[in-house]
Amino acid sequence: MPIKNLTLTCVNHPDHTLTRTDGLGALSMVSKNEDGSTTALPRNGMPVVFFYCELCGYVEMYAEHRTAIAMLETAGPPANP
Ligand SMILES: [Zn+2]
Repeated sequence: MPIKNLTLTCVNHPDHTLTRTDGLGALSMVSKNEDGSTTALPRNGMPVVFFYCELCGYVEMYAEHRTAIAMLETAGPPANP
């Protein structure tokens, strides 16, 4: 879901705030091989931040370096009903 009022909410439960996981995750880049297959390049990728819904398990992620994530982190703990 889009960030609204510095809050991320679940796509299935619009009144429920998503919880951020500790630390960072990563999206690995891949290279395309001549035979059409791909090879994961774990040393190349993008750090991401994961959020999830404690009710249904919906997962959402954002690039770690984006300003919106810093804004969410300064907004304080989630206020789940
Ligand atoms: Zn949910």
